[in-house]
Amino acid sequence: MCWGGAFIRSRYAGLRLAVALCILSGGGEAASQALPMAGRVPRVLILYPYDERIVATTVAGEALRARLIQATNSKIDLFSEFLDLSRFPEPEHVARMGAYLAEKYADHRPDVVVALGKESASFIGKNRNSIAPGAKIVVAGFGSSAADKIGLSKDVLGAFSIFDILKTAQMARSLQPSARHLFIVGGSSDFDREWLASARNALSEFSAFYETTYLEDLTIDEFVDRAARVPADSIILALTVFKDRDGRNFIPREALRQIAMTANAPVYGPYETYLDHGVVGGSTVTFDALGQTVGNLVLDAIAGKPAQNVDAPQTYFADFRQLQRWGLSPSDLPPGTITVHREKSLWEEHWPIVSATFGVVVMQASAIAVLLLERRRRQAAESRARIHLMEAVHLNQSATAGALSSSIAHELNQPLSAIRNNAEAASELLRSGNPDLQLIQQILADIQEDDRRAGDIISRMRGLLKKRREIDWQEFDLNDITSSAIHIIRSEAERRGISLRATEPEGRLPVRADRVHVQQVVLNLATNAMDAMSGTGPTGKTLTFATGVANDRAALCVADTGTGIPEDALPTIFEPFYTTKQEGTGLGLSIARAIVETYGGAISAYNRPEGGAIFRMDLPLVGRKEANETNGLHRR
Ligand code: ADP
Repeated sequence: MCWGGAFIRSRYAGLRLAVALCILSGGGEAASQALPMAGRVPRVLILYPYDERIVATTVAGEALRARLIQATNSKIDLFSEFLDLSRFPEPEHVARMGAYLAEKYADHRPDVVVALGKESASFIGKNRNSIAPGAKIVVAGFGSSAADKIGLSKDVLGAFSIFDILKTAQMARSLQPSARHLFIVGGSSDFDREWLASARNALSEFSAFYETTYLEDLTIDEFVDRAARVPADSIILALTVFKDRDGRNFIPREALRQIAMTANAPVYGPYETYLDHGVVGGSTVTFDALGQTVGNLVLDAIAGKPAQNVDAPQTYFADFRQLQRWGLSPSDLPPGTITVHREKSLWEEHWPIVSATFGVVVMQASAIAVLLLERRRRQAAESRARIHLMEAVHLNQSATAGALSSSIAHELNQPLSAIRNNAEAASELLRSGNPDLQLIQQILADIQEDDRRAGDIISRMRGLLKKRREIDWQEFDLNDITSSAIHIIRSEAERRGISLRATEPEGRLPVRADRVHVQQVVLNLATNAMDAMSGTGPTGKTLTFATGVANDRAALCVADTGTGIPEDALPTIFEPFYTTKQEGTGLGLSIARAIVETYGGAISAYNRPEGGAIFRMDLPLVGRKEANETNGLHRR
């Protein structure tokens, strides 16, 4: 728990010690001259009182070394000696050790000697002239009573430790604000009794707020029993139990462990070494902080700065597991409390990975959000474009139907007239005395056939006039659509004196699209071609349809023997509102292009060298193997 025996100090005792040291050190100021080092790096000898296994001294020593190396940028010579004085306390050994070190450091006299623990301080006090004459001496790791006993020379600097029971009590109060009882545990050795007396003094005001009981002059069993029966709203402060009433000796933290194990209320203590032995926490000087404080004193001594004795800084410490055991909140701990055994949160343990992961996730989420937004925008735009296209196609279909209406009416008239004539003939036959039933049967068959023809014409027109809101995706043969379009325009072509040519298809041209839309494209091209031939002479007007596979796509060419397209108009012919017709809208070809591109195809126009124009449309083939793989186009 402390080096060279326990030492204690209340606030008042601390004041007394400071006064005593002031007197000892001639006003508390040490020499302020820089040490004579003649251009070399300073040498510091650290004396450890025991061997290297004593954690308290090695932790403080390591903290001291780290502080010196960091502050001097490694421009310092550090030496360590483990004096092992608890196992070899005999004066002869101490004398031999003094002589040995005097000889060892004869050519490397230290500029500063740090004595950790009172045994080291006492040793260097006796041997400083032989080992390190002229060196600055810094002592650390013990308190008032030990310092008084050693009789330190007045130029010795000290970093003294305070074990303040009041601060520990205040920590307990902030964790247990509703506690009503206070128990203070102390043993029966001289040291224990001295500590109890000091604590009574230090806690005189604090204990006035509680029903206070000093548990003293008890056997270890009685300590354990009393602690197990304290009210739940109690604070137990453990000082030291080196000895119990029966004279049994204890290492205080082991006695504390027995008491705390079955205690009915939280136990606190002012020693770091009580951690892991059942205390919730307390206020103490940590060995690490002590090492750093000593390091600062050494640096001041090397620099020749005026230096004073200092009290090593106190730190609150707490055991997270004990806080949990008693249901105490870590947020009630004093600021800066060192909490051990705390399970670190994922964030605390892996914050760089967590923050990097979080950053990546945020970036990905933002990118996904932007992409989704973009996709939604695109989908909305596509949907709007599709609606516009559907409306435009419908208008275009209506216009085509209107343009073809007179010839369609004419076409329809033929079967209807035939039906009427045949019906009249049949009635006439029936009125005769001996009707020829076989002939009547033939006439009725003709009527049925004419009715079927009329029905076909009407069903072809129905597709042209039907309004769609969505694309009706189907797989169909481009040859079938071409034939159907030819049927629709046949009577109109006849009326205009145009002969139609088409080659028999040699294989299927499966494409995937809305068949009514593709048929509309064919009708647009065909009616434009017929219009282009209206200005030419009455003979030789020919409209040719050719389908086939070109560049792995299903293609249709519509060629005419008309006026052809003005060369300067070729680049703009598919733009909306380009028209050379008086009644034209200039929308037919732009709608045709929009339809074909919707289904992944293309449309283009050329002039034929022999006169007239060719319009070519191609669409992706659905099953390449099913298609007729001939190169070039077949006339139909
Ligand atoms: P519209 O038929 O209402 O004029 P289109 O977009 O269908 O609108 O056609 C635009 C123009 O392209 C036509 O006015 C015509 O000048 C020209 N055109 C289209 N097809 C042919 C063709 N086969 N031969 C010559 N010119 C054509």
